[in-house]
Amino acid sequence: MTKLSTTLVFAASLLATACVRNPYETTNRSYRQQAKLLAQQLQAQPTLAGDSLPPTPYWVGTTNFNLRKPNYVIIHHTAQHSADQTLKTFTLTKTQVSAHYVIGRDGQTYHMLNDYLRAWHGGVARWGNVTDINSVSVGIELDNDGSEPFQPAQIASLLKVLGGLKRTYNIPAANFIGHSDIAPVRKNDPSALFPWQQLAVRGYGLWYDAAVLSDTTAAPFAADSLGQPLPGLTPREALRIIGYDVQDFPAAIVAFKRHFIQTDVSPILTEQDRRILYNLYRKFL
Ligand SMILES: [Zn+2]
Repeated sequence: MTKLSTTLVFAASLLATACVRNPYETTNRSYRQQAKLLAQQLQAQPTLAGDSLPPTPYWVGTTNFNLRKPNYVIIHHTAQHSADQTLKTFTLTKTQVSAHYVIGRDGQTYHMLNDYLRAWHGGVARWGNVTDINSVSVGIELDNDGSEPFQPAQIASLLKVLGGLKRTYNIPAANFIGHSDIAPVRKNDPSALFPWQQLAVRGYGLWYDAAVLSDTTAAPFAADSLGQPLPGLTPREALRIIGYDVQDFPAAIVAFKRHFIQTDVSPILTEQDRRILYNLYRKFL
């Protein structure tokens, strides 16, 4: 292709993009208005929350600050039938749900909310001692009805988004997790068909060492790698240390198995599941 024709094709594609009417003009206006209100809050001089403290003679603002960063990524499946349906859901005020990113089956990725702002995707959830997941995470919704495989084009786009997030915010590998991990009683997304291992290989999420599958001599929860006994360490405690809310222990096991075992998501830990759990527990320590 000549330089001129490349330029013409580029100009034509720009024109085509410009000509697409945006059906979300009205809700986009609402986005900008809300962002403006938040910006005003940020610009305001901070005040003391209580009135029991003595006033200072003048206000002193520091000169050294920036924005807080997300430190977790929560992956979801939409349990809906199309990305369009999800875009609509996330632009209706009455639903009170949203995510930063929506990725279609074809890989088309919508960035619906600035990563620094708080989306409403986690709901009542817990991971370790973090209880306000929405305040510390980026939420990514994958268009998937919950019973179908995830499309390669969709995973390819997801990996690109994850790469950008990890680089920009320096998010630890262990902090790429699923909605069902943080809300095991209420949620089952992403489903057991989600390719967690494929992500972990690239540094998004942790995975167990394959050796534990064949090493049947290992006696998990009886001793550590040096043979030292670990009194009190139980599968329940290991799940808790990884981050799971173990108040409903069977639900925590199912969430763990949905993420790391996948071929069987019953609430029972087999001998092999226990070896995998122990191996992962050591990585999360
Ligand atoms: Zn979800």
